[in-house]
Amino acid sequence: MSSHLPAPSQILTPLPALTDNYFWVLQNGNQALVVDPGAAEPVLDFLAQHPALRLSAVLVTHHHADHVGGVAELVARTGAQVYGPALEKMPVPCVALRGDQSIDVLGLDFKVIDVPGHTAGHIAYFCDQTQFNGASSPLLFCGDTLFSAGCGRLFEGTPAQMRASLDRLASLPLNTRVCPAHEYTLSNLRFALAVEPDNAALQRYTQVCEGLRQQSLPTLPSHLAQELAVNPFLRSRENSVIQAVQQHYPGVTLTDWNETNVFAYLRQWKNDFK
Ligand code: ZN
Ligand code: FE
Repeated sequence: MSSHLPAPSQILTPLPALTDNYFWVLQNGNQALVVDPGAAEPVLDFLAQHPALRLSAVLVTHHHADHVGGVAELVARTGAQVYGPALEKMPVPCVALRGDQSIDVLGLDFKVIDVPGHTAGHIAYFCDQTQFNGASSPLLFCGDTLFSAGCGRLFEGTPAQMRASLDRLASLPLNTRVCPAHEYTLSNLRFALAVEPDNAALQRYTQVCEGLRQQSLPTLPSHLAQELAVNPFLRSRENSVIQAVQQHYPGVTLTDWNETNVFAYLRQWKNDFK
């Protein structure tokens, strides 16, 4: 008899749903959580295919309908505990979370990070206790704040807030698995290449992602080191990005292209990008 049991691995699954959302399911043993279920049916289908699995928790990053639309039905059907941002209105009673709180879900410790910008109360969830296929790898559920090669639109926050939120996420471990809520990667990459056409890592990553999408496979999760190499919104202090933004807005006569202005115009360029 061996007393040396391997540490249990978790299983991470993106459920494609709605137009281009992913509802992330994390399994630990016979318990699961789902992040931002904008509809109940894909989650209920997944649970039906895994009859031993119990949905213990629903984690919500922000109040938009494509992230909370399925929460009430999932709670009614499964009794799952809901966690959500304290500063936003949730469809059902939930554990109201603020930055720097920690929660124990599925026996794992998740740290809450305030990431205002897309919405005013947006939070992200970070866990550094997860293992996949026996290898330790931290996990980030970042909703509509950080996308692969992009970031969320600024509906309720300022460029300075979003930049600070992205800085917070960028300081996590480089091997963190990054789990955004949307498959926006290819369109984000088209913009990223317009900003940094000579970025070799970006060119390689684009080829990989195009291949995945041709097979209808998710480009996600990404990981943080990859995003630092390709994501213009994490690279707004790089000379290549600063120069591209300044060249795109030649009429801007701000004497001081400070970090916030560069980020703000980069986001504006992406909003207008066709
Ligand atoms: Zn959203
Ligand atoms: Fe969304």
